[in-house]
Amino acid sequence: MAVLGIEGGIFGSALEEFNRAATVLGLERGIWNILSHPKRQITVSCPVLMDSGEIQVFTGYRVQYNLALGPAKGGIRYHPGVTLDEVTALAAWMTWKCALANIPFGGGKGGVTCDPTRLSRRELEALTRRYVAEIIDAIGPEKDIPAPDVNTNEQVMAWVMDTYSMHVGHTTTGIVTGKPLELGGSLGRREATGRGVMIVTREALKHLGRDLAHATVAVQGFGNVGSISAELIAREGATIVAVVDWKGGVHNAAGLDIPKLVEYVRVNPEHTVAGFPGGDPITNDEFWALDVDVLIPAALENQITVDNVGLIRARLVVEGANGPTTPDANKLLHDRNVLVIPDILANGGGVTVSYFEWVQDRHGYFWSEREVNERLEAKMCEAFEATLRTALQYRVDMRTAAYMVAINRVATVTRMRGMYA
Ligand code: NAD
Repeated sequence: MAVLGIEGGIFGSALEEFNRAATVLGLERGIWNILSHPKRQITVSCPVLMDSGEIQVFTGYRVQYNLALGPAKGGIRYHPGVTLDEVTALAAWMTWKCALANIPFGGGKGGVTCDPTRLSRRELEALTRRYVAEIIDAIGPEKDIPAPDVNTNEQVMAWVMDTYSMHVGHTTTGIVTGKPLELGGSLGRREATGRGVMIVTREALKHLGRDLAHATVAVQGFGNVGSISAELIAREGATIVAVVDWKGGVHNAAGLDIPKLVEYVRVNPEHTVAGFPGGDPITNDEFWALDVDVLIPAALENQITVDNVGLIRARLVVEGANGPTTPDANKLLHDRNVLVIPDILANGGGVTVSYFEWVQDRHGYFWSEREVNERLEAKMCEAFEATLRTALQYRVDMRTAAYMVAINRVATVTRMRGMYA
């Protein structure tokens, strides 16, 4: 079967990372072949009756990249740029992220090519319900569990859950994670990614002989991941000296007051940190060149590139965002002995607590926030230690090591399960 995107494209880049780690692992040809192909790619047409009375047909995708460890897990993205290539790459990354987190999930991802800013609430609900109906045979709490991604939220997840439940004839909360608390969501899910970033930052500094309580930190992006990472890191005693977002940045060498900054962004009509009175404005270039211990890119992909990597003076980069460092820049940082904690490790807290949400839904018994956080702490530390051990043993960077741990886990169960034919 020809796999779309296998030559070049985003999936091509995902395969490059896979190939590098698989080479160091010495992965045998057969398993290599299996793990570099998506198990299932579904494309559906979703007709929607628009408010205008016209029928518009949207294209949706669901890719289940690998199911060796358990049901597929991955978000649903609504964006005009969604393609099968992109969804396949994202599903592959979810496979490695879940395996590294050591949770019993495979990797999946979904998307609908649409511009949600141009849809009314009714149209968005109709599109969501039709998309779910079109993929319904492929999803389920034992098969494939979606979650929010770009431009989808708790409300969209509630519609996914309701549509699935209507089809099977009973309420099935475990079909989706990232739900509202009232519908079987988990305490601590909203903060989970930022909490995971804080935990790996603390562990990485420990490895470097440093203490988070005395570290200086700069954060790019102040949305869910950036703001919560900053808040929790500041609570550990570290000094957050700068934050930048899409509109501008703010710097205070003595430390920004993060709770005040969160409130400033909340009430600001443009939801930006720019203009915060508790610091001075800072440009992007000044931000990357700050003399800090830790940089946390928590905004978008491709932010640390060959053009700005030379400015970086931090000793540690923790990738809160997905793909914030280009491969060339990653190599330059490694050569300069800057420790980079890769995205699949650093932001794995989100999917880990999604797993906890699924477990709680299936038991119908819900944990306290303290229990969620303690279990997250244990999982993040375990993943960090496994990655660091591999990096030291094979003398590779943390990104390659994280992929090696993940690929090895999926390869091991694939070998054990054998070939069904
Ligand atoms: P978000 O939309 O809540 O926040 C994004 C932030 O990035 C905003 O502060 C925005 O102003 C800023 N930003 C946008 N463009 C920018 C630019 N050009 N320069 C600087 N800042 C810019 O998103 P989020 O949920 O915090 O996700 C951030 C990243 O983390 C994404 O890569 C996402 O895929 C990844 N991630 C998120 C989660 C999660 O649980 N939310 C889990 C894993 C990975």
